[in-house]
Amino acid sequence: MSTESSSTANTNSEKETLGFQTEVKQLLHLMIHSLYGNKEVFLRELISNSSDAVDKLRFESLSNPALLEEDPELKIRIDFDKDNKTITVSDNGIGMSRDDAINHLGTIAKSGTADFLSALTGDQKKDSKLIGQFGMGFYSAFIVAEKVEVNTRKAGLPANEAVRWTSSGEGDFTVETIEKSSRGTEIILHLRSDELEFADAFRIRGIISRYSDHLSLPIEMVKENLDEEDSGKAVEYEVVNTAKALWLRSRSEISDEEYNEFYKHVAHDYQEPLIHSHNKVEGKLEYTSLLFVPKHAPFDLYNREAPKGLKLYVQRVFIMDDAEQFLPLYLRFVKGVIDSSDLPLNVSREILQESPAIESMKSALTKRVLDMLEKLSKDDQEKYLEFWKEFGQVLKEGTGEDYSNREKICKLLRFSTTHSNSAEQNQSLDDYISRMKEGANKIYYATAENFSAVSKSPHLEVFKKRDIEVILLHDRIDEWMMGNLFEYDGKSFVDIAKGDLDLGELSEEEKKEQEAVEKENEDLVDRIKKALEDKVEDVKVSSRLVDSPACLVLGAQDMGFQMRMMMKQAGHQVPETKPVFEFNPKHKLIEKMDQESDEEKFKDFCLMLFDQSLLAEGGAIDDPAAFVSRMNQILLAAL
Ligand code: ADP
Ligand code: MG
Repeated sequence: MSTESSSTANTNSEKETLGFQTEVKQLLHLMIHSLYGNKEVFLRELISNSSDAVDKLRFESLSNPALLEEDPELKIRIDFDKDNKTITVSDNGIGMSRDDAINHLGTIAKSGTADFLSALTGDQKKDSKLIGQFGMGFYSAFIVAEKVEVNTRKAGLPANEAVRWTSSGEGDFTVETIEKSSRGTEIILHLRSDELEFADAFRIRGIISRYSDHLSLPIEMVKENLDEEDSGKAVEYEVVNTAKALWLRSRSEISDEEYNEFYKHVAHDYQEPLIHSHNKVEGKLEYTSLLFVPKHAPFDLYNREAPKGLKLYVQRVFIMDDAEQFLPLYLRFVKGVIDSSDLPLNVSREILQESPAIESMKSALTKRVLDMLEKLSKDDQEKYLEFWKEFGQVLKEGTGEDYSNREKICKLLRFSTTHSNSAEQNQSLDDYISRMKEGANKIYYATAENFSAVSKSPHLEVFKKRDIEVILLHDRIDEWMMGNLFEYDGKSFVDIAKGDLDLGELSEEEKKEQEAVEKENEDLVDRIKKALEDKVEDVKVSSRLVDSPACLVLGAQDMGFQMRMMMKQAGHQVPETKPVFEFNPKHKLIEKMDQESDEEKFKDFCLMLFDQSLLAEGGAIDDPAAFVSRMNQILLAAL
C-alpha cells in the first residue's frame, strides 16, 4: 500500500491524515470531469456497496449469529437534509474496521488499474469513454459531494471501536476512532452547492427505482406527507423498492433495463451486458441461474489470478463471490448468479470442488452458455461478431479444454479465409463448408503470425489457382488450437504447409505434365540437394507454387515454424525437424540459377532461397549475419 502517514503519533485511535494511493488521485480527478453527464450513478454505487456489505454480514452470521446483535433486520436507509445539504446512505451490514477503511477507501485494489491508467490518452473525450468502462465505485460520491464522511463499525467490534473516515476527494483523507452504537456503515455526502437537486425525495426515489430495484434487501426512506409541524412524532420509514431478488421473479416481469442494472451490480461493470440467459432448473437438482456475457473484455482477462466465476446463493442467501467451479476456464468472461436449493448453507470452496452435483451443474451451465452464444450467432450476426472480437481468443481455449463440447465450440469459431480475404474474422466453419466443391472433404488452413503474412503465403498459390478456399489463421493461439482439432462435421482439417498435398483427382493430362516436369528437373533436384544437404529433409519439384520460386513444407506431424519459435522463446527444447524444400522450376530465378556453373555461387543462391522461404513462413533464420552477407554479395554483383 502506498498511503503515507503524516500524523506524528501513530497510535491506533489518533486522528491521522493519509494520502491517497497515486492511482486514486488520478482517477478521482478524471472522474469528476468525465462522469459529469451521468452524476446520479453515485447513488447506485453506494447502494450497491451497502447491498454487498449486507450480503457479507448475512453470510458471516450463518456461522456466527452473534454478529447480528439486536439488529437482525438487514436493510439500507437513505436520508437527506436540504438545509444542511446532505444525503446519508446507511446500512447495517458488515461495516469496516479502521484498517478496512484505510485499505478499501484509500486504494484501488482492482487488478489492471495500472494498465488502465497507461491506456489513458490525455484526450478527455476518449478518456471519458474508458473511465465509463472502468467505473469508480465508492469514489463516485465525489461527483456530487465536496466532502464525504464515512462512519462505520465492523460487525463484532465494540461501539467504541468505530471509525470516521473523511475526505474532500483531493489529495488525502483522515481517519479517527469514534463511538458508534449501530453496526454497519453510514455515508454522509456534503453536497456541492450546485448539486442540491439530489437532496430531494422524488429525485432519490426515481434513481432507486431506475438503478436499484433489483436488490433483494429493503431500501427505506422517510415516509412522505407527514405533517411537518407534528415534530413530536417519531420519524417513520417505508420501503421504497420491490425488495425481491431479481432472479426469483419470472422472466416476463423483468424489463431489459432491470436486467441491465442487475448485471452492473453483480459484475461491477459500468456498461450494459451483451446478452443474458435466465433459467430455472427443476428436477433432481434445483437451481436458478442468471448468466450474462459482458460487452467488453475486462482489463485482466488474461491474468490467471484475476477473480472469475459466478455469485453463489443458496436459497437466496448470498454465499460467495467468484465461485469458479460452475464454469470452465474458457468461459471465464461469463458473469452472473446461481441460486441453488440443494447445496448446504455452509458450503465452502473445498466442498464445491469435490461435489458431483457441482460437476453436473457445471456441465449444464456450460451448455447453457454455448447455446446462448449459438443462438446469438444465428439471431444477430453483428452482435455475435462484437462478442467474437472481445472473447473469441478465450473461447478458442475451449478446443483444448473441453473435449465433450468440441463440436459446439467449433461451430462458434470465426475465421478469416481466402474467400473474403480480410483480416476480419467473420466466417464460420459452416460458411466454409457451404462453399466447398462437390465431393470435397477437407478443410484447408494456413497459419502465420499476422494476417498479412498468412494471406501472402506461397503455399496459397495453388489453392488460388484451383479456386479452393483456405482458412487464414493469424492469432497466437491458433497453431495450438489446430493441434486440438482433427475434424468437424466429418471433414478433416489439413494444414496446407505440411505433408503431401492432395487436392483431389488430377486429370490424366495434368498427371502426365507433372511427371514430365519432374523428369526434366532431376538433375537440378540433385544439385539443390547437395547445396542444402544438412538443412533439408528432401528437395522436390513443387506443385504448390505459381508465383514464388520456393517454399518449405513440414512433415504432417511436425511442429509449425511459429510454434517452434514461441517454444524456443519460452526456453523450451524443441525437436529439430528438417523441412522439405520445394521449388518452382518455371520461376525465372530458378531458371537463371540453373545456369550458374560456379557451385559455390549456386550454393549461396540456394541458401538465400531457403532463408527467404523460412522468413516467409514466419520462422527465424539460424544465422542472420550470414544471410545478410550473402545478400550483400548478390546486391553488389547486381549493381
Ligand atoms: P467495489 O464495490 O467494486 O469493491 P468500491 O469502490 O465500490 O469497489 O468499494 C470499495 C470497497 O470499500 C468495497 O469493496 C468494500 O470493501 C468497501 N466498502 C464500500 N462501501 C461499504 C459499505 N457500505 N460497507 C462495508 N464496506 C464498504
Ligand atoms: Mg462498489
